[in-house]
This record gives sequence, structure tokens and C-alpha cells, in this order.
Amino acid sequence: MAAMPVLFVSHGSPMHALQAGAVGAVWKGVAARLPRPQAILMCSAHWEADVPMFTGAQKPETIHDFYGFPPPLYRVQYPAPGDPQLASRARELLKSAGIAAGIDGARGLDHGAWSPLLYMYPDADIPVVQISVQTAFGPRHHLELGRALAPLADDGVLLFGSGHTTHNLRERGQRPPADYVLEFQDWVDTRLARGETDLLVDYRAKAPHAVRAHPTDEHFLPLFFALGGAKPGAKPERLYREVESSTLAMDAYLFS
Ligand code: ZN
Repeated sequence: MAAMPVLFVSHGSPMHALQAGAVGAVWKGVAARLPRPQAILMCSAHWEADVPMFTGAQKPETIHDFYGFPPPLYRVQYPAPGDPQLASRARELLKSAGIAAGIDGARGLDHGAWSPLLYMYPDADIPVVQISVQTAFGPRHHLELGRALAPLADDGVLLFGSGHTTHNLRERGQRPPADYVLEFQDWVDTRLARGETDLLVDYRAKAPHAVRAHPTDEHFLPLFFALGGAKPGAKPERLYREVESSTLAMDAYLFS
């Protein structure tokens, strides 16, 4: 079996679950191109924990982790099964890499996970396990998480990061893309294309407008999970590059 490619998407507003927009077709299209995964290991920005945690529920609930949205959004369900065996194996892989991790048997799937999956796998018939981010530990740690879990891709597991290329909620508005967003986005794209992982890891010091693009970096960390999960030398393919609400860059990348 060829290794499963690794995916990163920017998940956008939870409203995408109701109104696909242009990115919905991109999510649907990439799923159609991929081999059917045995399972999905999803690193979403919306689950933060002090140590890496995996969802261990047989039937993870759909979490509506947002406020002030229209009622139909709170009725969206994504009833994909869990995969407790995958969660255990993933925890063992981290342990072998010297990273202590845990399993949360109660936690469900958040909108960073289910919003793109609604379009990619609408039948919700592929098992999904989520892994938390540890915002305090920064990019290098998430790169290492991805590297430790990369062998799962050889067994048909889709390693999937769901975050944002830029994520400034305070400055968002109905305006064209902000210049600093475009500059940061280009910087990231160039570093990815050149395989300059060390520069990416040090993005807060090296990238233009880094702190403005990510006032906190939890939404950027899933990109490092995906980068770590990709095979050495994997080429990033930019699937999408639009910016929503002026400050939310929506890039998606497939590493294969
Ligand atoms: Zn988000």
C-alpha cells in the first residue's frame, strides 16, 4: 500500500457547514482524489490540552463549540465512528518517541474536524480520532507529533491538520484581504515550496507580521502536525488560497 498523503486545511467559519462556499468544492474534490482512508487522525486547533490527548470514544459526539450562530448549525451532526484501537496505537507511537500522551474517552469531534469532513466524507463512515494541540509547546513540538505518527500513513490513515494560515479574529471584517495577510500567506507558501521547515518552525521571529497573522498560534499548529506527518521530500500542493473576512487565510495543502 502506498503511503496516504497528508492534508492541511484552513477550516474557516463554522458557517461553512451550512454554506459550503468555494472551499466546500475543494474539500470535496481532494477527498475524491485520495485513496479511501482506513481512518482519519485529525489535529484540530479547537482542542487544546496540556499534553497530547486522543479521542477514545467508540461513537464520538458532534461538539458545537461556538456561540451566537444560527440554530440550524447547532443541529448539524457528524456521526463518524471513533477508533479506540487507532487511539491506543497512536499513543504508543508517541510513547516510543518519548512523548507522554493520553486518551479521552468522552471527548467528541469539534467543528474544526467535522466542518471539512462533512464535505469530504458526507457519509461519515470513516472512523475519526482527534488529537489535541498543546499551544504552549509551539511549532517544533507539533512537528515532532506528526513525525512520530507518520508511520500510520503507511497503513492508510489520513493524517489531517485543520487550522488556518492566518487567524486574526479581532481584525476580521467584510473587506478585501489585508496586505499583511497576503504577505504572511506568501511567506508561508514559499517556505513550504522550498522545504524550509526550520524557518517555518521559527515563524514568530522570521515571518513578516507573524504575531498579527496569529495573535495566538493554536490555529497555525495543525500545519506543523501535517508537515511532520508528511514523508521527507513530500511536495506540498496548494489546493486553495482565498482569504475570508479580510484576515482569515483559507489555504489548503496536500503533501504527497
Ligand atoms: Zn477555528
